[in-house]
Amino acid sequence: MGKLVIFSAPSGSGKTTIVKELLKRFDCFEFSISATSRQPRGAEQNGVDYYFLTNEEFKERVARNEFVEWEEVYQGACYGTLKSEMERIWNNGKVIIFDVDVMGGINLKRLFGEDACSMFIMPPSIEELERRLRGRGTDAEEVIQKRVAKAEFEISKAPEFDHVVINDKLDVAVDEATEIITRFLK
Ligand code: ADP
Ligand code: 5GP
Repeated sequence: MGKLVIFSAPSGSGKTTIVKELLKRFDCFEFSISATSRQPRGAEQNGVDYYFLTNEEFKERVARNEFVEWEEVYQGACYGTLKSEMERIWNNGKVIIFDVDVMGGINLKRLFGEDACSMFIMPPSIEELERRLRGRGTDAEEVIQKRVAKAEFEISKAPEFDHVVINDKLDVAVDEATEIITRFLK
């Protein structure tokens, strides 16, 4: 078994942006591609951003015990980490980097303990989170409202993570995450 670094945050906090920057900085990382039952968004590609499954396919794979963890993150939209994905990355000799929801992050940390470093990306405020979701321009208003409504609960879970990084200025947040990861990998 290898190591893993977990990023969780309310949607719109900037964790995907931060993870993409870290993938450029660290050669040792490979991104864990999750499975999801939601539709592709914008330019997302199957097998790159997610493994896109139908609801039925997702349920069948749950029944076959193929997931390390999975959550119905938003009503009707399931997301999960496949055991085969973790094995694929560790077999490549890489450290796994995760972008998962808050409950998924807490569960992965529980499962992998000291081999895992969990980070919560904190938005400067809920208002800024909403601005970023609108600015991203990828979600319908109803979807944005659902994500903002969930943010307060998610923020209440921040103390359960190993580290909390505030994403106000992006370069400051990426530098902070870089330092934490460098210490963890030593
Ligand atoms: P998440 O993966 O947490 O849902 P994203 O990485 O998609 O969030 O970021 C949401 C939006 O906010 C994107 O449009 C992104 O460019 C923008 N963003 C990310 N970090 C910052 C920041 N520090 N300041 C301003 N905008 C940011
Ligand atoms: P999005 O629809 O914006 O891509 O993702 C919605 C949420 O699902 C984000 O919080 C994202 O981190 C989370 N997510 C993505 N993959 C997984 C996964 O494998 N497991 C869990 N628990 N959450 C995930």
